[in-house]
Amino acid sequence: MTTIAATPPAGRTLPPAPVPANGTPTEAQILDSADRCDQCSARAYVRATFASSDLLFCGHHFTKAEQRIRSTAKAVLDERSYILPARTTGTGATSA
Ligand SMILES: [Zn+2]
Repeated sequence: MTTIAATPPAGRTLPPAPVPANGTPTEAQILDSADRCDQCSARAYVRATFASSDLLFCGHHFTKAEQRIRSTAKAVLDERSYILPARTTGTGATSA
């Protein structure tokens, strides 16, 4: 078995790999930057497996249809925990 190593940006660490509700993802199921949302072609963070095929979603499009997808998909691999929190903008300093 090959170990999959993700390389986080300098100074950052990746959160633990997400585990789908129905088991451990195989290497083929884990999403990377080459996987694109079927709706908008942004990077995919969710793979929904249906009876006949898989669909990939970015965080935005999965969140938009999450209830419907979870109620109809056989399995959902949700890697949205890899999405970094939005950076705050503005000129205010955060330290005193
Ligand atoms: Zn999308």
